[in-house]
Amino acid sequence: MQRRHLLAGASAAALAACSRPTPGQSGATAVGRKLQWKMVTSWQPNFPGLGAGAARLAEMIGRASGGRLTIKVYGGNELVPPFEVFDAVSRGTAEMGHSAAYYWKGKNAAAPFFCAVPFGLNAQEMNGWLYHGGGLELWRELYAPFNLVPFPAGNTGVQMAGWFNREITAVSDFNGLKMRIPGLGGDVMSRLGATAVNIPGAEIYTAMQTGALDACEWVGPYNDLAFGLFRVAKYCYYPGWQEPGPTLECLLHKPAYEALPDDLKAIVEVCCQAINDDMLADYTAQNHRAMRSLIDEHKVAFRRLPDPVLNALRQAAQEVVGELAASDPFAHRVFDSFSAFREQVRVWHGISEVPFYQARG
Ligand code: CA
Repeated sequence: MQRRHLLAGASAAALAACSRPTPGQSGATAVGRKLQWKMVTSWQPNFPGLGAGAARLAEMIGRASGGRLTIKVYGGNELVPPFEVFDAVSRGTAEMGHSAAYYWKGKNAAAPFFCAVPFGLNAQEMNGWLYHGGGLELWRELYAPFNLVPFPAGNTGVQMAGWFNREITAVSDFNGLKMRIPGLGGDVMSRLGATAVNIPGAEIYTAMQTGALDACEWVGPYNDLAFGLFRVAKYCYYPGWQEPGPTLECLLHKPAYEALPDDLKAIVEVCCQAINDDMLADYTAQNHRAMRSLIDEHKVAFRRLPDPVLNALRQAAQEVVGELAASDPFAHRVFDSFSAFREQVRVWHGISEVPFYQARG
């Protein structure tokens, strides 16, 4: 009798613990149970494209799961700072995160390949490499020791080269330029004489306004209009050589993800793939509207970077990416996979996408 009571007490305690899931323990008996997760992000809450995309992802998972998995979304600094998303999800402070892998290049040399490589892959090509070219398997392998499962979860499409307070007519104009530019693009700019810094998006406007920065790249018309960057820099250049199709990431705390029943795992996976597609559609629909507004209402004259400047950037990018691959065995494996895919798809798109754009005029 005593023994039966003890067992009953233990079961009740276990059930009570399960009804208040904590990170890493949230799903072991989760079939039919309602889970509440946290998602930390590197973006301002509901910021167009990025923050709104993360919120749509959370909403979609809640709806698709019939409320069995609901997710509360936190903007940058609401629970953790924007650049601590990786660590927060790794240690289980939150079960999910939404961010960009190139922010973590200080932790792992291979990380930028899963977001943006200068002169690398566009959005369509990134999806091809990640989903059907071996990229996602490598990404999962890279993040596994950090207790993280990554999913592609958004893409902005080709970005802009950025906003500058001086005209760029030659590579020498980069000398001494203080520019906000994260990831490998920052390393390329440093090689050409600039000082590259990385600060969260929310801090860019003030840094430009106060003169702490001479130049910045953020995303493109949709997001740059929202930040009002046209007010703090005279020149906007294209194309976004540094981010031809950056993949955003949804990070899952591995123990929490693995404890999910199979149908919720599938819902998370499918919703991530849906937002990966939907965010690109949002940018594609909004960027050209924002571009018109910047031109017509705010009198922004977009400029193309001169060919000699783009050639110098491409040359420096090859050096930077090559040295990165040589610095780390895993980065070399990723580089080999990425480079082989890029070369093959470059040839194919050379007789499909590229001539179509040219023929369309
Ligand atoms: Ca950017």
